[in-house]
Amino acid sequence: MKFNIKPLSIKTKLTLFFAIFSLAILGIMWISQVLLLETTYNNKKKNDLIFLGEEITANLDSSDLNILINQKSFGNNNNIYLLNQNGMVLLPIEIASTSNNFLRSNLFNAMITNLNNVDDDVVIYKLKDESTSYVYCAKLIYNEETVYLYINSPLEPVKQTIALLSYQLLIITAIVILLSMVLAIIFSNNISKPVVQMSKAAKKLAKRDFNVVFVGSSYKEINELAETLNYTKSELMKSDDMQKQLIANVSHDLKTPLTMIKAYAEMIRDLNGDDKVKRKKNTNIIIDETDRLAALVNDILNISKAGTGLDNFEKKEENISEIVMGIIEKFGVLEEYKSYKFIIDVDTDLFSICNKEKMEQVIYNLIANAVNYTGDDKKITISLKEFKDYIRFVVIDTGKGIPKELLENIWDRYYRSVETHKRPIKGSGLGLSIVKSILNAHGFNFGVDSIVGSGSSFYIDFPKIID
Ligand code: ADP
Repeated sequence: MKFNIKPLSIKTKLTLFFAIFSLAILGIMWISQVLLLETTYNNKKKNDLIFLGEEITANLDSSDLNILINQKSFGNNNNIYLLNQNGMVLLPIEIASTSNNFLRSNLFNAMITNLNNVDDDVVIYKLKDESTSYVYCAKLIYNEETVYLYINSPLEPVKQTIALLSYQLLIITAIVILLSMVLAIIFSNNISKPVVQMSKAAKKLAKRDFNVVFVGSSYKEINELAETLNYTKSELMKSDDMQKQLIANVSHDLKTPLTMIKAYAEMIRDLNGDDKVKRKKNTNIIIDETDRLAALVNDILNISKAGTGLDNFEKKEENISEIVMGIIEKFGVLEEYKSYKFIIDVDTDLFSICNKEKMEQVIYNLIANAVNYTGDDKKITISLKEFKDYIRFVVIDTGKGIPKELLENIWDRYYRSVETHKRPIKGSGLGLSIVKSILNAHGFNFGVDSIVGSGSSFYIDFPKIID
C-alpha cells in the first residue's frame, strides 16, 4: 500500500521538533525528580543504615562504644540500642540506667521474629508504626553474651517535597513549551522566508524572466543554494542568448541560399531554358546552394549527436595519417576549381586510439574553418607530426586571426563572429563546439594559437600508443 504523505512546512516541522524535544527533556526531569525521588531517598537511607550497623558491630569491643552510639543517635535522628535476650537496654548507658529501659515488647518480638525467619544474623525491615522507618537488627556476641543491636532510622515524609517539585516543574514545563514555540517560529521564519522567496523567483525564471535575483540568508546552505540558482540563471541566460543567436544565424543562412535557388530556378524557367551553357551554370548554382543547406542541416544534426552520443562511443587503434589524408582529399575540389593552396606535411602511419568517425568530423570541421577564414592568398597548411609523447595535428590559415578576448568564446555552442563569411563552406557557429565536445570526450589536448592579422593555427595532440 502506498501512502501519500503531504510534506510538512519548515515551520510546522520545527515547532513539532522543538515541542517534542522540550517535552522529552521535561519528561526525563519529571521521572527523575518526582517519580524516582522517593525510591532514591529510601535506597540511600537503607544503605546508610547498613553502613552504620556495620560500623557499630566493628566497634563492639571498643571502650568508646557508648560514645559512638550516642553520637550516631543524636546526630542522625536514629534510635540505637544494644539489647539483651529479654529486650532490656544495655547501651546507651544513659537509657539503661533509667527505669524505662526495655524496648517495647511488640517491637522486640517483631525483631526476634524477623531474625528467626532468616539464616543470617542481620535483618533489615521496614516498620510502619507511628511513622515509617527502616529497622536494622543484628544478633551479636557482646561480653560473651548474646545481644541484639537495634537501630531505628525514621524516613522523612517526601510527599510534600514531591508536591512542591511537581508544582515547580509544571510552571517550568509551561514556560519551556512556550519558549520553544517562539524559538521555533523565529527559526523557521528565518529559514523558510528566503526559501519561499527563492522558490517564487525560480518559478519566474522558469517562465524566462531573467530579471529575478536569488537572495541568500545568514545560513550557509541557503546562501549556497542562492549562489547555485544565480549561476543557473546566468547559464540559462547564456544558452537562451545562444539559441536566439543560432536561430538568427540559421534563418539568415537558410534565407540566402533559398533566395538564390528560387532566383536561378526562375531564370532557367523564364530566360535560358534553351541555352545549354547558361542552364548548366545556373543549375550548378542551385546545386551549390542546396549543398550549403545540406551542410547547415548536417551541422545542426551533428551538434545534437555530439551532445548526446558522447558517453559510449567505441575507440580503437586508428591510422591517424590515413584519416587526415582522407579528409584532405575531400577538399581537393577547392584546390582544382577555387584556387585554394593546400600545403600538406603529413607523416605516414601514425597511430592513436580514438573513434574514427568522430575524429573525421573534428578534422573536417577544422579544415573547413581554415578554408572559410583563410586570407586572400587562399593558403592552408596542414601537418601531422610525431613528437616524443604525442602526435600533433595542425591546421594553419592566413586569415584575420582571432582576437585574444574571443579565443575562449569560439568553442562555445552557437558562437559566431558577427561577420558573415562568404566562403565555400557555410557554417552555423556549431563546428567548434562539436570539435570541443568530441576532443574532451576523448581526453585529448587541443587548442588554438592566433595572431590578429596573420592567421590562426588550430592543433590537436593525439596520444601515442605505448607498447
Ligand atoms: P562557424 O560556422 O561560424 O565557422 P565555428 O564553431 O566553426 O562556427 O566557429 C566559431 C567561430 O570561431 C567562427 O564564427 C569564427 O568567428 C571563429 N573561427 C573559427 N575558426 C576560425 C579561423 N580559422 N580563423 C578565424 N576565426 C575562426
